[in-house]
Formats: sequence, structure tokens, C-alpha cells
Amino acid sequence: MDKQYIKKLAENPNLIPGIYNYCDRWCERCPFTSRCMNFALSEEQFADPQTHDINNEAFWEKLSEIFQLALEMVKETAQEQGIDLDSLDLQQAADERETIRSSAKNHECPCAAKAYGQMVNNWFDSANELFEEKADDLGLQVRLELPGFDPAEEADNLKNFVDIIRWYQHFIYVKLIRAVQGNLEGTPQGLDEFPKDSDGSAKVALIAIDRSIAAWGQMREHFPQRRDDILDVLVHLDRLRRKTEAVFPDARAFVRPGFDSPDKHR
Ligand code: SF4
Repeated sequence: MDKQYIKKLAENPNLIPGIYNYCDRWCERCPFTSRCMNFALSEEQFADPQTHDINNEAFWEKLSEIFQLALEMVKETAQEQGIDLDSLDLQQAADERETIRSSAKNHECPCAAKAYGQMVNNWFDSANELFEEKADDLGLQVRLELPGFDPAEEADNLKNFVDIIRWYQHFIYVKLIRAVQGNLEGTPQGLDEFPKDSDGSAKVALIAIDRSIAAWGQMREHFPQRRDDILDVLVHLDRLRRKTEAVFPDARAFVRPGFDSPDKHR
């Protein structure tokens, strides 16, 4: 892959610009893979199965290649726009960003999201036996061929709820950090009328919270013996949801390219 390939790809009118900025990165379940530049690039870059393995040298070589290419393109764009990168005080910018990032980490939304991530680990660590019992139950149902029961469907549903919870477990924190950081950095002058990236990130976090709440609600049905501690998780998530909505009152109305825009019907 080279710069020309990326530039040509970016000109493809079928792709939705910026769609990957406000998605949940769950490409496996995304209906927009054919319209996402990020997906196209990943498919091209990581076509070799060896480059999928984080423990493999080929993975790191590929990643380094991508960073190098990105750097070259940044330099080229800066040059085109008459920006002298060498004249920028990068150290100062990095220090300011680090200060903002530290403040963002201490904000109550990311703190609650981080605590949620830990709650999920604790819950699953304590649920090994529960899942073994459930597997035994479902196995028994298969053998008994009880009418009105579909153990395979129940197992699939359960796996789906676990997958959802696990997918968003840390994602919520990452998106909330970005949202709070954006708020702390403020809107650059002259860009007041544009949708705020912080609202977009908060919206994605809210969607992840909504889906996690729905999945935990279903888990509660599957594991009635753990209803109380699942309720604790749900209460925590609901508080986080309400707090996030309060801090980012415009987040729900943010229009995500592709997912919320009329373009999605094409
Ligand atoms: S928009 Fe869809 S295909 Fe593109 S990165 Fe996000 S989840 Fe993956």
C-alpha cells in the first residue's frame, strides 16, 4: 500500500467520510463495511493472516509501516498548507495534552466507566461455576428433547449477551475519556457552529451503555440466582448514563455519519 492508493481510496464516492470516527469498531457486526475507508484499509493492510497476530513480528512491522505512511502524509499535507512543522512547539503541545488527559481521567464519567470495567471482570470471575451449571442444564435439555425448549437458541442468545458486555466493557471508558478531553480542550475559534467531536464520542459511549444495559437485563433473566448483583451493575450503568447525558446534553442529538444520517438509507 502507498500514499497514492490511500488518496485514490479517499476519493471513492461510495465511502462515507468519517464514519469510523463514531462507530463502535465492531466491524464484524457493522452494516457499513463496504462504505468505510478504515475497513477497506485494514482489509488491505492485514490481508496476510500473520499480520493479525499481535505476538507476531509481521504484525508490528505492518503497524510501523502504517505509522510511517501516516507521518509522511501529515508532513505532505502540512507542506501543502504552508505549515512548518519544525516551528511548532510540539513539546509544549504534548505537555498541555497530557495535563488535559490527566484531568479527563479524574472526571467522574470516565472514573465511573473504569469502575464499571472492573465490575464486569469481577462478575465474570465469580461466574465460572454459573456458566458450567448453565452448560450442564442446556446439555440435559438437549438430551431430554423437552418440548418448547430450544437449548441451542438459548446458548446462542447467552453468548451474544456476553459478547456485547465484553465488547463494550472498556470501550465506554475510552470514548468517555475522549469526550471529556474534547470538552476540556474547548472548541477551536470559528468552529462553534460545527457538531462537537466530544458530543459524538459521548453519543457512542451512551449507545454502548444502552446496549450493555440491555444485555445485562437479559443476563438477569438467564441467571435468576444472581439477580441482585446484576442489579448493582445495572444501577451503576444507569447512573453513568444519566451523568453522561447531563454532562453532554447535546450528545444524543449528534448525527453520526452513516449511522444517523439520511445517507444510511442509500
Ligand atoms: S464504521 Fe463499521 S466497518 Fe468502519 S471501522 Fe467502524 S465498525 Fe468497522
